[in-house]
Amino acid sequence: MLSVVCVEPGKLTLEDRAEPALAAGMAKIKVRSIGICGTDFHIYEGSHPFLQYPRVMGHELSGEVVEVNAGSALTLGDRVIVNPYLPCGSCVACRKEKPNCCTNIRVLGVHTDGGMTEFIIIPEGQLYPANDLSFAQAAMVEFLSIGAHGVRRGEIKSGDRVLVVGAGPIGLGAALFAQIAGGSVAILDVNAARIAGAASLVKGAKGFVLGANTDAEIAQYTNGDMFDVVLDATGSKRAMEASLKYVAHGGSCVFISVVKDQITFDDPFFHAREMRIIGSRNATKQDFNHVIASIKNGKIPIDLLNTHTAELKDLPSKLPQWLGEQDSLIKAIVTLD
Ligand SMILES: [Zn+2]
Ligand SMILES: [Zn+2]
Repeated sequence: MLSVVCVEPGKLTLEDRAEPALAAGMAKIKVRSIGICGTDFHIYEGSHPFLQYPRVMGHELSGEVVEVNAGSALTLGDRVIVNPYLPCGSCVACRKEKPNCCTNIRVLGVHTDGGMTEFIIIPEGQLYPANDLSFAQAAMVEFLSIGAHGVRRGEIKSGDRVLVVGAGPIGLGAALFAQIAGGSVAILDVNAARIAGAASLVKGAKGFVLGANTDAEIAQYTNGDMFDVVLDATGSKRAMEASLKYVAHGGSCVFISVVKDQITFDDPFFHAREMRIIGSRNATKQDFNHVIASIKNGKIPIDLLNTHTAELKDLPSKLPQWLGEQDSLIKAIVTLD
């Protein structure tokens, strides 16, 4: 079967690999669409903190069930979405029904070979029905679930003033789900093109382009209150630390981003606000189901989010090209027939 392998940083090759064999508790999936995300670009560039090469990337997946064990709840031909966060099932987090922050989590396409290939074996419990979604739409559920999870972690409720920092794909998803939760949403980014794009996708959201007057503009916009909830989706230490400035007294900041660094803050500033700083890692079945229902109900401009496409066989030349198109790229989807 055709597979795209990242053999070392900066090098993608097409390989003909043996099809994987079915095992107990698993289903064999024919991959139909693969979303490309920041993680994949980081792996390709060699900036992922703990990656072992060679690696088949790809964790944003949809496909068709082609082989199951006797007694499976799945049927051949079922269209499914893959939850790529494989939990151990027994650690302290798993016991608390928080498999998204399992101590021993394995992420498809990161810790183990992922979906840039024709067939993949997935535990049945990690597969959710795609219902009426197209395969391309279904491959976008995972990245949207990351933002939806951050919104849930922030306990955003109707009327909350919400600032999303970072207008990349994760930030856009967070902004859309913050609106669905009833929040009044503003978005801040360093890149004016990204803010212009966000305005057309997240209708009614206020945009801020980071500049010398940003703090004053935001203070004025919120009548000096700042925001009830700030959702950070930047992946930048400096931006994450600055995000705290925009939290209201009694408010919260959710770090959807992760950086391999220390985040520091001024304790009197934090204490005076009785601020909550909340981590948000990956997503759970509840988030996936919320995203699937929201797409189905027409609340997400799903097809506009898919800005770039390619076939799997063309990915070794397309992925490096997309690296240079980050201003216009929201979500690239790779397709297989
Ligand atoms: Zn991703
Ligand atoms: Zn676990």
